[in-house]
Amino acid sequence: MTRTNRNWLPEYCNPDSYLPKIPETRTLFSRPPFLFQDFAGRAIRFLQSEQARKMGFEYDQKNILPCKWKCADESVFGMDLALYAYTGHYPFDKGGIGGYFNEPSVSAAVHHGRINIDFGGSHVGYLPDNRGGLFGYIWRPLQHERSTDCGHLMNVIQPFKSIYDDATESILIFNPGGDRLFVSIPNEFIQPNWSSHSIKLLVDLDTLTAGDVPYREEVPHTHTPIGRTLFYLNPRFLEELSEEAVRRFHTAEPTPIGNLLTHPYFSIFDSAAELDLNGLPVRRLNLYMKFILSAANSPYPLKAAIVNTNIEHNRLTDTVRQAAYKPYAFASFTGVIIDVYEETINNYVNLFQPLGFSIKPAGVTRDIELPPDEIHHLLRELTPAEPVRPVADIMGYRSLPHLLDRFIYRPGHFRRD
Ligand SMILES: [Zn+2]
Repeated sequence: MTRTNRNWLPEYCNPDSYLPKIPETRTLFSRPPFLFQDFAGRAIRFLQSEQARKMGFEYDQKNILPCKWKCADESVFGMDLALYAYTGHYPFDKGGIGGYFNEPSVSAAVHHGRINIDFGGSHVGYLPDNRGGLFGYIWRPLQHERSTDCGHLMNVIQPFKSIYDDATESILIFNPGGDRLFVSIPNEFIQPNWSSHSIKLLVDLDTLTAGDVPYREEVPHTHTPIGRTLFYLNPRFLEELSEEAVRRFHTAEPTPIGNLLTHPYFSIFDSAAELDLNGLPVRRLNLYMKFILSAANSPYPLKAAIVNTNIEHNRLTDTVRQAAYKPYAFASFTGVIIDVYEETINNYVNLFQPLGFSIKPAGVTRDIELPPDEIHHLLRELTPAEPVRPVADIMGYRSLPHLLDRFIYRPGHFRRD
């Protein structure tokens, strides 16, 4: 008989509760990102077009306020410069450290310009190499060392990541002889009170196991090891694996489950997390933590940036639909900002992978939302708008040959640290 341990989970982690989906990294990165200043120039060209006018957006140069919502990190300052070059105005800040959208800023912004053009998202560092590159880190020229990027998001994830890594190494699968595989699970991953750490990882007994192994005195491998419980492995776990992976577990030597501990087989939560009135963690990223940590095709820092950007884009569109903002127009471009340190200019350069674009014309409360493939399709065909100030003078460099060629990440092809 399989007993459940789902009763120990906070309600928001219940595997039966539906969680809104986030676009797949594989789909988003099926196309290369843009250089940010190039993206901004094309975006503005689009907003000036007949097509944007048909969507209800009137580009009126004297009422345009460029806005940004992104992390405070200086690695993303190039975006400010690009927006200044293309609009001639200093951008209004609607963001906060970590790439959060600062909702109360909108009421001030609309009084500075009736048409807000927003560019924003989470950022993630990229260290190019010939193995797909490493996400989550960047070279810091002042310190002469690499550091985390986005440092804030990496800090948020780090305690979850170390518990997850520990679980992947200490949950062991083996075949003691016979048909059925055993899985040996440390007790702190079965019941939360076995660990004093506020972050709890619980294996989902319903999906990973098929009942506990009964004790038989004459059969030593059924004897309970200290601090662990022995279960039969659920045969369905093996059905999804390659033959090679299955073979690896079919030995008497206990083998760590590794990154095959994917989201159907565990939950992870912070038992000390602040919850809102709906019982959801105030930091919404927590809801998606198990997907971030165990994504197969996506480095976890990139996945975290994608998830956070989606959550904050939702907050932005939800805000601009409020009745108070009905008289104002918004064009909001949201994406993941990829920071690369460029030695030739001794500075940071930003790539931009668009995730969403919404237009909320003045006089209505509903917006029009375009998905990433349509954004790519629309903007790739355009030439960048005529900048108000020379882009090269503002940015401090003329061209960056081969920069985009150095971004060689493709889904499944990346370096794990
Ligand atoms: Zn940051």
